This record gives sequence, structure tokens and C-alpha cells, in this order.
Amino acid sequence: MSVNITAYQQIIQLLHNKATLVAVSKTKPIEDIETLYQLGQRSFGENYVQELVEKYTQLPKDIQWHFIGHLQSNKVKYIAPFVYLIHGVDSIKLLLEVNKQAIKQNRTINCLLQVHIATEETKFGFDEIEILAINWAEINALTNVKVVGLMGMASFTNDIKIIESEFKQLQRIYQKLQQQNSSIQLLSMGMSADYTIALQYGSNMVRIGSTLFGNRVYAK
Ligand SMILES: *Cc1c(COP(=O)(O)O)cnc(C)c1O
Repeated sequence: MSVNITAYQQIIQLLHNKATLVAVSKTKPIEDIETLYQLGQRSFGENYVQELVEKYTQLPKDIQWHFIGHLQSNKVKYIAPFVYLIHGVDSIKLLLEVNKQAIKQNRTINCLLQVHIATEETKFGFDEIEILAINWAEINALTNVKVVGLMGMASFTNDIKIIESEFKQLQRIYQKLQQQNSSIQLLSMGMSADYTIALQYGSNMVRIGSTLFGNRVYAK
């Protein structure tokens, strides 16, 4: 069995209701998700639309499914019927599409805006200037989508100073936005390698995969 139950219990204790654990189960089998489900875990994160839809159909309906990957507009419709929270909204265009599909499903979909904090060019998201310039009246007017927070990923580096400064930047942006918009309540930051640092900078939602489920075998 590849699920690290000891690590799971330690993380749950550490978070101690101050932050939500999203167990990132991408590329992992149904049985691994069931193992954590039986221990009480209900929030799971996936990166790929097709994989998420397959797992949703096979697993208990009280699971809260978090979409944490890069979402293409043309795929929103597949997850709109059931997704609990979309973490990686990186454009207003995508937000409009989520709203459109949510209307069709007669539900409201909660979203996080992804902020680009890493120095790497490949990461998606709004930069600081863009996010602070957002027209909240326009977003609040969308009937079936609600922006409830921010999500970010630090650079892939062993340099703790870099990671700290990136998380600190996101925390600062988050605090500014909270003053403008009372719906902003979630700060999703921290993965297996850096979640303890993220918690020091105000993260209240961590996305942890490999520490719980082991390393992913194939690159996806
Ligand atoms: C894969 C992934 C994670 C989890 O990464 P681990 O290092 O395995 O904990 C978290 N967030 C996002 C956006 C991911 O794609």
C-alpha cells in the first residue's frame, strides 16, 4: 500500500483546523483515495478534467472535488455539475465561462484566482498589478460564480529565502484584497515540499500530494 497514513495523521494534527488539507490524488488510483476517505478525508484535488470526472463517477458523492490544474475554457462544462472549488482561475475570460456553465447547472461555483508569484516563466496566473487592478464590481455582478480567494505556487527551488519571499508577497496581496472584498477568505498555498513555510505566511488551504500518496510514477 502506498498511502502514508502516518504522514496523513501528522499533517491533520499540524493543521489543527486552521487550514484545510486538499489531498492531491492526481495519477493515483481510486483505492488510495478510498483509504483516506475512510479516515475522514473529504477534500481531494485533481489536475486533469477527464481523470477528475472518472473519479467523481466512481467515488462517494460527499467528496469535495478541488480542480487545481490549468483549466481550459472548453473543458469547464465537464466539471461544472459537481466541482467544489476551482483553484487555478487565471483569466477573466475563464471566470466568465465558469459562470456560464454554472448557470446551466443551476449552481454557484466557488473559484480562486491564481496569482503568479514564482520567478519561473511557466507558471500561469495574474501578476500583482493585474490582480490589484481587478474590477470587483464586474466580478461581483456574475450571478453564479463567486471568487473566494487566491491560489499560488512558489518556485521549485531548495532556496527557502526565495520561497518565503514569494509566499510573503502572496500573503500581502491577499490581505489587500480582503480589504476590498469580504468574499476573499481562502489562501491556497503550500505543497508537499513547502507547506510548512506557506502556513507561516497565512495559508489556510494546503494542497499535498506526494507526501500522502508517494511520488507520482509518470510525469503528468
Ligand atoms: C501536483 C500539485 C500539487 C501537489 O504537489 P505535491 O508536491 O505532490 O504535494 C499541489 N498543487 C498543484 C497545483 C499541483 O499541480
